[in-house]
Amino acid sequence: MSAGKNPSAIVFDLYDTLVPGGSRAVRDGVSHAMARDLGVDPEAFAEAIRDSFDARCRGTLGDLHQTLFHLAEQFGTQPERAALDAAAERRLELHRSLLAPATGVLETLGRLRRSGYRLGLISDCSAETPMLWRESALAKCFDVTVFSCEIRARKPDRALYRRAAASLGVEPGDCLYIGDGASDELAGAERAGMTALKISVEHIDARTQTDRRELYGVRSWRGRVIHDIADLPALLEKAAGDDLN
Ligand SMILES: [Mg+2]
Repeated sequence: MSAGKNPSAIVFDLYDTLVPGGSRAVRDGVSHAMARDLGVDPEAFAEAIRDSFDARCRGTLGDLHQTLFHLAEQFGTQPERAALDAAAERRLELHRSLLAPATGVLETLGRLRRSGYRLGLISDCSAETPMLWRESALAKCFDVTVFSCEIRARKPDRALYRRAAASLGVEPGDCLYIGDGASDELAGAERAGMTALKISVEHIDARTQTDRRELYGVRSWRGRVIHDIADLPALLEKAAGDDLN
């Protein structure tokens, strides 16, 4: 961590930070099955899902059913409710599986809260994530969540970081932000006044890495990096100790 006072709150990214983002192959496989439900071309639909990432994250295509209807309409199809339900359920099932955190993640978040840190979450996400959030074991770990599709802004928009800090009842300067770095989120957090720390936890295949760069515009990061969230409590304790000396 860089200089600055010790944080009283920690703000986390979600995908590829606390839970996997899912490989390109798995995501496309789900998109292909959804396309068959909706009666559209599987490959083209998978591209449409990918191409709509920005709009879906900004919440401009509506809820999940509205989004799927809109995407299917691009192919000249107006699917029936049952087809939309089937496709939506596949997408929800994918995200249910993604939103199941590893035991170590829950343990660390619990430890941080018991140490007195307030915890926030900022996620660039489409409608599925807030729909499923309360089902996830992660939900009870957080004091505050900011979902891009709900506030209609994406990282690194300063509004997300400010919203998280204000909801936590602290200044941005009191927050440590932790994420994998997608969408320029780390530099964005620092521009908003937070201290940022990169976490690099997932070993993803080359095709998925390319996918991530295309979708999220991952930037280089010269600041501190950790490779296991379990290292965080000790890092914070050390930083607090250094500050006292
Ligand atoms: Mg991420």
